[in-house]
Amino acid sequence: MRIVKVRSANPPQGDSRPYFCIKIVATFTTYSESEDGDTNVVESEERVKTFLVPLERLVGSDASWPAISDMLSAVNVPIGVQYNMIHEIDEYLGSVAGDRRNAVANVVPMIVSISVEDYVEDDGGDDYVVLRESMNEPVVAQLPASKAAVEGLETVSASVAGGDLANKECAICQEEIVVGSTDQMIKRLPCAHVFHGSCVVRWLGVSCFCPLCRFPLPTL
Ligand SMILES: [Zn+2]
Ligand SMILES: [Zn+2]
Repeated sequence: MRIVKVRSANPPQGDSRPYFCIKIVATFTTYSESEDGDTNVVESEERVKTFLVPLERLVGSDASWPAISDMLSAVNVPIGVQYNMIHEIDEYLGSVAGDRRNAVANVVPMIVSISVEDYVEDDGGDDYVVLRESMNEPVVAQLPASKAAVEGLETVSASVAGGDLANKECAICQEEIVVGSTDQMIKRLPCAHVFHGSCVVRWLGVSCFCPLCRFPLPTL
């Protein structure tokens, strides 16, 4: 199993297979608990790695579990607590791959957030005693787009559009897109897909990806 680590989400040249671009963000936090019940953060560290993996290796393959485990180990998630995470990520990848909206995208980007918490006893000295370890379920999420990205969206006016829109229907509400109408503001994403302003603002508050091609907008 080889996982290609990349900065940008570009598959090797000439490779037209679908890929997952998976960014794993693991936050490791150590809390101390004093005798009177106060909890303080002793240490917090974030480890981030991005992986570009052919979809066929992660979906419907016996190698998917070891492949996901390799990614988690790469951000130092202990093997002993990986089981539930792998199960959840594996299920999510399967559902994403089966979503027809992703069929047109060569690269499907996603972010997996993991939080690992350690609790230690604060006895006033320099040494800490580990009381318990807990590993939260991973959150496989599509982050909302940043406020600046939403505010910076291009408004399509009748003169700019020139009658040549990338799509004629708003993929969010399935209603027609009418440029120049007084009661519709039309917004264009950097990928050229157009939507009703009110529809796309609501959508981008949940997901930073274009609903049609999953082009990613900047997140916070
Ligand atoms: Zn709409
Ligand atoms: Zn698009």
